Amino acid sequence: MTAAETHDVVVAGGGPAGLATATEAAHAGLDVLLVEREAEIGSPVHTSGATAPATVERYGVPQELYHPITSLRFAGPEREAVFKYDKPVLVIIDVRGTYKFLGARAAEAGVDIRTGATARQPVLDDAGAVTGLAIEAGDEESQLAAKVVVDASGYRAAISKLAGLHTGFERFGVGAEVELIAPSCRQDEALLIVGSRYAPAGYAWVFPWGQQRVRVGVGVHHGDVRSDPRDHLELLLTEADRVGVDLTDAQRTEDHFGLIPADGLAPRFAGNGILAVGDAACQATLVVGEGIRVSLDAGGEAGRVIAAAIQNGTQASGGLAPYEATFRRANERSLNIGRYINRRLATFDDEEWNEKLELLQAVPRGTLPRLLQSDFSIGTALTMLTGHPRLWGRVARYADELELLRLPLNEGR
Ligand SMILES: Cc1cc2nc3c(=O)[nH]c(=O)nc-3n(C[C@H](O)[C@H](O)[C@H](O)COP(=O)(O)OP(=O)(O)OC[C@H]3O[C@@H](n4cnc5c(N)ncnc54)[C@H](O)[C@@H]3O)c2cc1C
Repeated sequence: MTAAETHDVVVAGGGPAGLATATEAAHAGLDVLLVEREAEIGSPVHTSGATAPATVERYGVPQELYHPITSLRFAGPEREAVFKYDKPVLVIIDVRGTYKFLGARAAEAGVDIRTGATARQPVLDDAGAVTGLAIEAGDEESQLAAKVVVDASGYRAAISKLAGLHTGFERFGVGAEVELIAPSCRQDEALLIVGSRYAPAGYAWVFPWGQQRVRVGVGVHHGDVRSDPRDHLELLLTEADRVGVDLTDAQRTEDHFGLIPADGLAPRFAGNGILAVGDAACQATLVVGEGIRVSLDAGGEAGRVIAAAIQNGTQASGGLAPYEATFRRANERSLNIGRYINRRLATFDDEEWNEKLELLQAVPRGTLPRLLQSDFSIGTALTMLTGHPRLWGRVARYADELELLRLPLNEGR
C-alpha cells in the first residue's frame, strides 16, 4: 500500500501522553497528526484524575476544571491515618474537561486531531526503522508516512510491540470506579482504603471533585490476585459508612473501568523512528498508580527531542535516544523504588496494614504527597527521617532490600 499522507510526526493516542507530545512537537513547527480511536478526546473516562496542584498550574488548566483537596485520609482494616493541610496538596480533575482542554491546546498549536481513527500497525523499512503508521477509520484503511511515530496508545502498547521496541507488559493494576452525585459526602478529603475487604492487593479510593460529585473506585493488581475489582466496589458502595463515607441519597451517574501497567519502566522506549510515551512505556509512578503528571511531562520532553532529531535528520539513526536517557536520569531510580513498594504493598495482610498505618501517621505531613508521587529523592528521605526516630529502624531494615542507591544501576525490568 502506498502512503496516503505524509506527516513529520504521527501520534497514536489522544490521552495526556499523546496530547503533550503532539503539542510540543507542533510548537516546534512540525506537521503533527494525532489519531485517537475514540469518537472524542477524554471519553470514556478511565482514570480517577488525582494529580498535583503544580501539574494543573504548569499546564494552565482552568481552575473550574479541578477541585482542591486539603485532607488525606488512609483507612485500614482497624486503623486510620489522617493528614490535614492549609493549602491544597492534591487536585481531582474533571477528566473529560481537562483532556478536552489539552486537546484544544494541541489543536491551537497546529496539531491535526483525527478522532475515530485507530492505529493498527507501524510501517517498517528493511532496517527495522519505523517509517509510518497504518490506521483504520470507519471502513477505510490507510497508510501514513511519518518521520517519527509516537506510541501513546496506553497500557496495551500495541504499536511498540509490533515495532519491536519492547515486548509489552504482564502485570496490571485493574480499576473499577463509579461517579456519584453524593450530597452528603465530604468534598475536601481524598480517602485511600487498604485491606482485604475492599482492595486485596491494591487500594480503594473516594475522590470528590466538586459540586457534590465523587469518584469511588477499587484497584487490584492482576498478576497478584485475580479478583474482579467491580465486586469489591459494589461491597464498598453498600457499606461506605464503615470507612466514614456518607453516601446517603447518592446517585450513580457513570461507571468507569481501566488498566494501568505495573511492571516497571519498559526496557526500551526510544527506537529508530518511534518512541513510546506514558502508559505505553509504563512510566506511571506505582506507589498509587499516578500517570497523568508523568505522561504530560514525558510527552513534553518527547516532543522537544523529536523536533531536534527531525531538524538534524537523525530520527532514524539514534536521534530519539536522548528522550529515553533524559527520562531515565530524572525518574528511573524513584520509579524503581515505587515499583518495589507497590509489589510489597500488594502482599500485605490486614494485620500488616494496621501496623503500617500506625507508622504512616508518623510521616511528616509535608513529605507525604511527595512519597505518594514516588519522589524518593535523598532530600525527601532526609526530611522524613529528621525528627522522626520511629521511622529510622524501619528504613534501616528495608535499606538492604531496596539497595536504595544501586537500584537503577542494577535493575532492568
Ligand atoms: C482506574 C485507574 C485510575 C487511575 N487514577 C489515576 C489518578 O488518579 N491519577 C493519575 O495521575 N493517574 C491515574 N491513573 C493512571 C493514568 O490514568 C495513566 O497513567 C494515564 O492515563 C496515562 O496516559 P496515556 O496518555 O499514556 O494513556 P491513556 O490515558 O490510556 O490514553 C491512551 C489513549 O490512546 C487511545 N488509543 C488506544 N489505542 C489506540 C489505537 N490503537 N489507536 C488510536 N488511539 C488509541 C485511547 O483511547 C486513549 O485515549 C489511573 C489509571 C487507572 C486505570
